[in-house]
Order: sequence, then C-alpha cells, then structure tokens
Amino acid sequence: MEQNAAKAAQAPTLGWSVLEATGVDVAQCYQCGKCTAGCPMARYMDLMPHQVMRLVQIGDAAAEEKLLGCATLWSCAGCLTCTQRCPKELDAAAVMDALRQMAYDRKKTSPKQKKVLAFHEAFLKTVESDGRMSEFALVRRYKMASMDFISDVALAPAMFARGKLKFAGHKTAGRKEVQKIFAACRKRGDR
Ligand code: SF4
Ligand code: SF4
Repeated sequence: MEQNAAKAAQAPTLGWSVLEATGVDVAQCYQCGKCTAGCPMARYMDLMPHQVMRLVQIGDAAAEEKLLGCATLWSCAGCLTCTQRCPKELDAAAVMDALRQMAYDRKKTSPKQKKVLAFHEAFLKTVESDGRMSEFALVRRYKMASMDFISDVALAPAMFARGKLKFAGHKTAGRKEVQKIFAACRKRGDR
C-alpha cells in the first residue's frame, strides 16, 4: 500500500507530461473559453477545448481516463485557431496533439474512433514510405485498414479524371531522411 502511494507520488502528473511534450504550462489557463468559442470543430467534440485544458489541470486518474478516451482529440483539425485566440498565449492545439499521441501510445483511443485511427496510421505510413503525402497510397492503406471499401468510391472516377488521384505515387528525393526521422522517433518511443 505504502509502495503504491510512493509510486503514485513519483509518477509524472498529466500536466507535467504535457509541459514536457509541448512546453505549454496548462496551469496558466484561466478558463475564459475563447479557445472553444473560436473552434470550428467544437460541434463534433464531446469535450470542448477549454474543458480539455481543465481536465489536464485536474490531472487525476479519472480526468486522464476521460481525456485519453475522448472523441475531441480525434476531431481536432489542428487549425490553431484556439492557439491564436488564447489571451494567455497557450498553445491549446499543441496540447491536443500531445494528448492524441498519449492516447495512441497507451492504446486508450476509444473504439468509436477506429476509422479516424486507421486514417491517422495510413497517413503516417504513407509519409514515412514516400517522404510526402501521396493520395492514392493513403486511400489504399486507409481502405485496407478500415475495411471500408464502399464509402466515397463513387467520387474516384472524377478525381482520377481531374488528376486529383494518381496511381503512380509521388516519392520525394529526401524520403530516406524522412525515414530516419521516423526511425529516431520510434527509438525515442514517440511512435
Ligand atoms: S483561451 Fe486560453 S486561457 Fe482561455 S480557456 Fe482557452 S486555453 Fe484557457
Ligand atoms: S486546433 Fe483543434 S481545438 Fe484548436 S480550434 Fe482548431 S480544431 Fe479546435
């Protein structure tokens, strides 16, 4: 019992982990709500951006569980509006990003986000493999991972006709360097 209490005291708090990952001191948030008021994705979120900041401040096990399993982390479009509007100059978008990575690493992502997760992984794999975004490779990987072969298929002919989708992938000359970055992140435990 005493050992558990000592371990809990040593474990980094959620706020500390976020600070370490992003440099953002969430304790400075005074809950004005300006981030939420400007967020274009708020209607799709189950926790508003200011509530995310508050839960990081609380940082206990219940708050962490709620945060890492929420849909908000996967609805955030990374548009940075919250960051630009914050009167305390807190980078709420970076906090979202760090929490999303934590949820991913700890396998806490809600099963409801299965397709978003499949897209996230397909995107990263495509960038790692080609050194840049390649739409056809992304769609192929996403469809295989999500087993969603039907939705949006009707759009494909028009996209091919307009050159928006190409069978031949685009690979950058510097993809080996990009692959080294991915390998270094993996070694550090970031991915
Ligand atoms: S705008 Fe900044 S200070 Fe206001 S609630 Fe959002 S993060 Fe906190
Ligand atoms: S970065 Fe995310 S949380 Fe911030 S305003 Fe954009 S969609 Fe909303």
